[in-house]
Amino acid sequence: MTSSISERIAKIRASLPPSVRLIAVSKQVPAEVIRSAYAAGIRDFGENRIQEAASKQAELHDLSDITWHFIGHLQSNKAKKALELFDWIHSVDNLKLAQRLNQLAQELGVHPQVCLQVKILPDPNKSGWSVSELLSDLPALDRCKTLQIQGLMTIPPLKLTDTEVLTVFNNTAKLAQEIQSQSWHHIKMHQLSMGMSGDYQLAVQAGATMVRLGTILFGDRT
Ligand SMILES: *Cc1c(COP(=O)(O)O)cnc(C)c1O
Repeated sequence: MTSSISERIAKIRASLPPSVRLIAVSKQVPAEVIRSAYAAGIRDFGENRIQEAASKQAELHDLSDITWHFIGHLQSNKAKKALELFDWIHSVDNLKLAQRLNQLAQELGVHPQVCLQVKILPDPNKSGWSVSELLSDLPALDRCKTLQIQGLMTIPPLKLTDTEVLTVFNNTAKLAQEIQSQSWHHIKMHQLSMGMSGDYQLAVQAGATMVRLGTILFGDRT
């Protein structure tokens, strides 16, 4: 890509509705490049590996108003570290993990913002709740009072047509509405974390409130 990071950021920011939060997915991106994105106005960064995030966060310690978002599959032995490093966890993908995070967050005295990762279509390559599993786990999730459950996250399976991807995003939005209408005590459904470089326009069309963009901002990862 020939344009600079700041030009790419400005162009994409201008193409998004102002209410949509742009999360720059900086996995495999060196700290200096994150610094350039920060200089161009980005304050939300997404990472998918705990160790990598820890070392980059240490290098970027002076940029104290960054909000860090964890977007990868979280192993339960890294849950505590994730709570120490991240404000948001988009990828809470099963009840046991949610309960563990809830317990650890209570011990640490933090109130992490989380999204529940859901699979609208079956996908053996992805973790996350199926719709029926999620609906049956809601009562237990509602008891995870230390977590601020804010909405749903989804990643469509690979190789769908645009129409099929849009249907996945629309069905995620409908599911969030359905859950919201059940008036839980703690579960909120204000956020829809969906859309990556290849499909974020479809996600926005379906009501995404947070898009997670890597390649389109930073170029291809190796
Ligand atoms: C890598 C990743 C992204 C960004 O993907 P791009 O196609 O590079 O925009 C978004 N979400 C998750 C969960 C990811 O792992």
